[in-house]
Amino acid sequence: MSEVVNVEELFASKVFTLGKMRECLPKGTYKEVKRVIDQGGELSPAAADVVAKAMKDWAVENGATHYTHWFQPLTGITAEKHDAFVTHPDEEGRMIMEFSGKELIKGEPDASSFPSGGLRATFEARGYTAWDITSPAFIKETATGPTLCIPTAFCSYTGEALDKKTPLLRSMEALNKQALRIVRLFGNTEATKVTPSVGAEQEYFLVDAAKALKREDIIFAGRTLFGAPAPKGQEMDDHYFGVIRERIGAFMHDVNIELWKLGVTSKTQHNEAAPAQHEVAPIYESANVAVDHNQLVMETLKRIAGKHGLRCMLHEKPFAGVNGSGKHNNWSITTDNGVNLLEPGQTPNENIQFLLVLACIMKAVDTHADLLRQSAANVGNDQRLGGYEAPPAIISIFLGEQLEDVVKQLVETGEAAHLIEGGKLETGVSTLPDFEKDATDRNRTSPFAFTGNKFEFRSVGSSDSIGSPNTTLNAIVAEAFCQAADILEKADNFEMAVHDLIKEYMTKHQRIIFNGNGYAREWVEEAARRGLPNIPSMVEATEALTTPKSIALFEKFGIFTEAELHSRAEVLYETYAKSVNIEALTMLDMANKQIIPAVLGYCNSLAESALKIQQAGGDASVSSELLRTVSGRLTEVKKAAEALQAAVEKAATIQQGKEQAFFYHDVVAEAMSSLRKPADELEKVVDKKFWPFPTYADLLFEV
Ligand code: ADP
Ligand code: MG
Repeated sequence: MSEVVNVEELFASKVFTLGKMRECLPKGTYKEVKRVIDQGGELSPAAADVVAKAMKDWAVENGATHYTHWFQPLTGITAEKHDAFVTHPDEEGRMIMEFSGKELIKGEPDASSFPSGGLRATFEARGYTAWDITSPAFIKETATGPTLCIPTAFCSYTGEALDKKTPLLRSMEALNKQALRIVRLFGNTEATKVTPSVGAEQEYFLVDAAKALKREDIIFAGRTLFGAPAPKGQEMDDHYFGVIRERIGAFMHDVNIELWKLGVTSKTQHNEAAPAQHEVAPIYESANVAVDHNQLVMETLKRIAGKHGLRCMLHEKPFAGVNGSGKHNNWSITTDNGVNLLEPGQTPNENIQFLLVLACIMKAVDTHADLLRQSAANVGNDQRLGGYEAPPAIISIFLGEQLEDVVKQLVETGEAAHLIEGGKLETGVSTLPDFEKDATDRNRTSPFAFTGNKFEFRSVGSSDSIGSPNTTLNAIVAEAFCQAADILEKADNFEMAVHDLIKEYMTKHQRIIFNGNGYAREWVEEAARRGLPNIPSMVEATEALTTPKSIALFEKFGIFTEAELHSRAEVLYETYAKSVNIEALTMLDMANKQIIPAVLGYCNSLAESALKIQQAGGDASVSSELLRTVSGRLTEVKKAAEALQAAVEKAATIQQGKEQAFFYHDVVAEAMSSLRKPADELEKVVDKKFWPFPTYADLLFEV
């Protein structure tokens, strides 16, 4: 039996929460902190010193010797550089631990080794980290000992964002401003702030670490690059929500404890569809904190897996032939006086407001489907999206039967007087229906699904930061809100104007609604007829970042400058090329040094046995036929490896950037598939004793 866990005591015990600040800070300082968190602005240097000291004292009490500014560069993961609280010893050699307000607020890590897409020339290597007061500091307990982590934004010397947090915070401000205009139009004078809320469901695979470490592809690429399907896959549906095995259960137990200590509300856990696949989900919170917490979830999953002799694979498609992993990004918008703008409300006012918000979201997603698609693109997700197992690469909105019908009626007649099902939601207006808030059916195949009081963006990759998807969502919806508010604030007759606008937006953008099966091939054709973009790969999706439409959007709301957008595109192209290059080299290594020698050994044993059997007067046809098949395939492997080698060499001659990324996508990735095919065929027939690394059966079913 495991020890008794007191969650109430444990929760946020390693977080410097607002509650702790209230207890240990002078009243005035606490008030200042609270004001900056709620309303923005900067902490005075005096207050920063007081907070820093209190934070340090708390951290030291908890055993911390070091602190770090914790930030999220464009690598997609987090970065930290530890500094001890030590200072010059005094005359008598005594050490006084210190931590100043300056050190809390600002750091100057050398930025030259982080991707910047040309924004930061190496001669100007300085980068700045700036404390994000809206995300609480916490203590990470790892082998290096407890370390105080201070969430920070990361910018260049000239102020350009070099991270995922800065644009997210900017997008939250934009959404706040525009959403406030909308709620004011409906008479809400109380709300002072509107915040996007996010809950990210995290999928992952767990495999035995010892076996995983026998495969170079898992070590270097985080996924298998070879591997024939096991005799059993996920066809029996016996893993999804199945009983959690003991070894996995012990892991989940420890993960929860670690997450709770860090203030992450780990809530739901279950087995997922594929063998060895699982999910964990916390309760939703402010987008900014949710993004930080999702990084902690990913880190914790990996770290605790190591302690259990397991390896956590966050890759979007670690194994061919079974489901890959994603991250459902649940998103809604809430006012500080408790109104969720995505919740059909109690009063007619709230319900019309809901329909306007819905119309704006339809407009935003339709107008910027390419950007939303881009925000979920990463190298691994190319293996997953559009594979008829995950949301398609085509962005569409699922509303559910009832809501879709309401939209249809509004579009067709300007009224929607009846409802498909019973239940009422008062609109108080004859041209709008009374409808029931109802999550209706679940549509698992939609990339962007309305689920009762939130949208669930399901395209996001499992290993990716949720920073970009939420930045994009906030930005595109802020734009639609802004355009609606511009019209409605000027209207003489608000009621008429709002009804007209809802009808107009819904009519113009109804093509984005799709309630059918997103995995079906017919949808690809139908979407093409509707003119919806179908962007199958990351390199193609990257182009969406720098279109005039995208630049206008992000510049208008101060989220990205044009230079920042170009730099991000540059980083993405480079990341893509480098990642595929690593995968290609790994495949070559495995093919040349492991598969080919192993299969040669097998061929040799077949040849010997054929000869011996023949000499002894037996029927050697099995050995000799196998030898023919196997050696034939082996020739194919060798040829494909040579072609891949040539492709990689050619790629290296192309200048870094878009052209090279496309070459990796069009040529190198293709050559990789051509190598994989005959190798996987070989795996199916080669004597298991000869196969040089653990198979899918070993990895997926023996955890
Ligand atoms: P399901 O996906 O089955 O609907 P849940 O309703 O439990 O599952 O929600 C999944 C995730 O969505 C959780 O992280 C949950 O906290 C989050 N969530 C629920 N309501 C909201 C909301 N209003 N805004 C954002 N996220 C939400
Ligand atoms: Mg869900």
